[in-house]
Amino acid sequence: MHERTIFHKIVSGDIPCEAVYETDDVLGFKDIHPKAPTHILFIAKREEDFVASINDLTEETAHVPGLLIRAAQDFANQKGMSGYQLKFHVGKDGGQEVFYLHLHLLSQQKV
Ligand code: AMP
Repeated sequence: MHERTIFHKIVSGDIPCEAVYETDDVLGFKDIHPKAPTHILFIAKREEDFVASINDLTEETAHVPGLLIRAAQDFANQKGMSGYQLKFHVGKDGGQEVFYLHLHLLSQQKV
């Protein structure tokens, strides 16, 4: 069993989030401490897609970063964004605080 992180509790609905994007596979929500005018986090919803960090990817979970990037692209297109940054923080020394794989979307454009 892996540790239950704050993002597990967001997926299960035990703690609230400001959701801005959702499919069967992915949830996108506003970062609680935004580092840019738009700062969204994308996470996989399915238990079998859980991976703590890019550093922990396996053959079984190698598709998950693609799901998150595709969701970010879809969100940005829906919002008509012309530019943005996508980031994974990898490991404590890479600035990762929450060990539930998430993709940051940051933009100077506020949507
Ligand atoms: P990282 O450093 O990549 O692990 O990023 C974790 C991010 O999660 C940080 O930018 C936090 O501001 C954000 N965060 C932590 N708790 C919450 C929460 N309850 N709702 C939304 N964002 C959160």
